[in-house]
Amino acid sequence: MTPAVSTVDEVRSAVAAARAAGKRVGLVPTMGALHAGHAELVRAAARAADYVVVSVFVNPTQFGPKEDFAKYPRTLDADRQLAADAGADLVFAPTPAEVYPDGFVTFVEVTQLDQVLCGPRRPGHFRGVATVVLKLFNMVQPDVAVFGAKDAQQSIIIRRMVRDLDVPVAVQVEPTIREADGLAMSSRNRYLSADERAVAPKIYEALRATQARAAGGEVDVSRLESSLHAALAAIPGARVDYANILDAENLTPVARLDRPALAAVAVFLGTTRLIDNVILG
Ligand code: AMP
Repeated sequence: MTPAVSTVDEVRSAVAAARAAGKRVGLVPTMGALHAGHAELVRAAARAADYVVVSVFVNPTQFGPKEDFAKYPRTLDADRQLAADAGADLVFAPTPAEVYPDGFVTFVEVTQLDQVLCGPRRPGHFRGVATVVLKLFNMVQPDVAVFGAKDAQQSIIIRRMVRDLDVPVAVQVEPTIREADGLAMSSRNRYLSADERAVAPKIYEALRATQARAAGGEVDVSRLESSLHAALAAIPGARVDYANILDAENLTPVARLDRPALAAVAVFLGTTRLIDNVILG
């Protein structure tokens, strides 16, 4: 099992010792409930660095008042085992009080990029994400940090924050890891009922069909978006939160597929909200 620490002082001294030994430091920020998708990020970090820290923190500031903060799965022992198996050296699992001491009032906002997709549907979410990720960067001071493409908007926002604020961290984004039937792995998949789980792979099928239409020569983004939306809406029990195709770098609207575009969706199956995305072009 990976050793675990919970204070900033502890993680700093462990990282300082690694650095004194000439090691390059990698960080994989997570909310725990680790699965094979997270394991791939840890393996990628272990290839890019010599000393890998996995942070496990269910960040209260990125959850809305009606979201699943209280019931989000917390499985630290299993997380430490999975992290160890994937090549992590340390798990950093701070308490909310360690991250947000009394009197905490400072937040990071990455504007514009937080006005589309999940931003308007989860007010304050990306402010919470950017703030905690910058704090984790400052606590751990990694050379490289690894994120997953599954949370595409999140990784775009973090890359922009790092660029805009001159944060000395290399951001690396790894592909989405999927179940055998195509469903993107997520800590929230465990909330799905058997019926919901059975239809959940249709989300990725709809994205793949959109990719196929684009590869087949369809360049009209509004047509691609409406067929994507229709395919998602046809999933039994699904409610489409959004289905959008945007510029893959700036998340700005695109009318024609003349540059790489992100097809991103959020779908409710019952009360569980799942996100997924693919790149077109
Ligand atoms: P989370 O613990 O869900 O907040 O995610 C922590 C990190 O793992 C983020 O960078 C996610 O993008 C990444 N991640 C989550 N699920 C997957 C997946 N299925 N494949 C690749 N990366 C993932």
